[in-house]
Amino acid sequence: MNCFNHRDVSAVGLCKSCGKALCPDCWTELTNGLACKDSCESRVNRINRMLDSNAQVMRVARLQLKSLGLFCIIAGIAFCALAVWVNQTIGSSFACFVAFFGVAFTVFGFLRLSRKQDYPQSD
Ligand SMILES: [Zn+2]
Ligand SMILES: [Zn+2]
Repeated sequence: MNCFNHRDVSAVGLCKSCGKALCPDCWTELTNGLACKDSCESRVNRINRMLDSNAQVMRVARLQLKSLGLFCIIAGIAFCALAVWVNQTIGSSFACFVAFFGVAFTVFGFLRLSRKQDYPQSD
């Protein structure tokens, strides 16, 4: 395979943007790939930036899923503590009702935290 611009020079790589074969004179190295000098350089830089911000969005989404799980666990524990108090003041039947919510929230929270497939990998 020869360079797209120099038909007699063998290519060393492909442009990440347009896929043309490039010789050492024609390519410029970017953070994660090759691009045609000048013509595709800015485009590939834009793509790289897009991928970067995409990874950032994924990180935030992962964090939100995680904090939802933590929130449920904290709410669950709070409900359980409330159930103990309700048991002493209002009565055991209502305390059971509150305790049920406490356990449900806690279990849901732990399930949220342990389900790894819900946390997309950014790479
Ligand atoms: Zn190109
Ligand atoms: Zn060339």
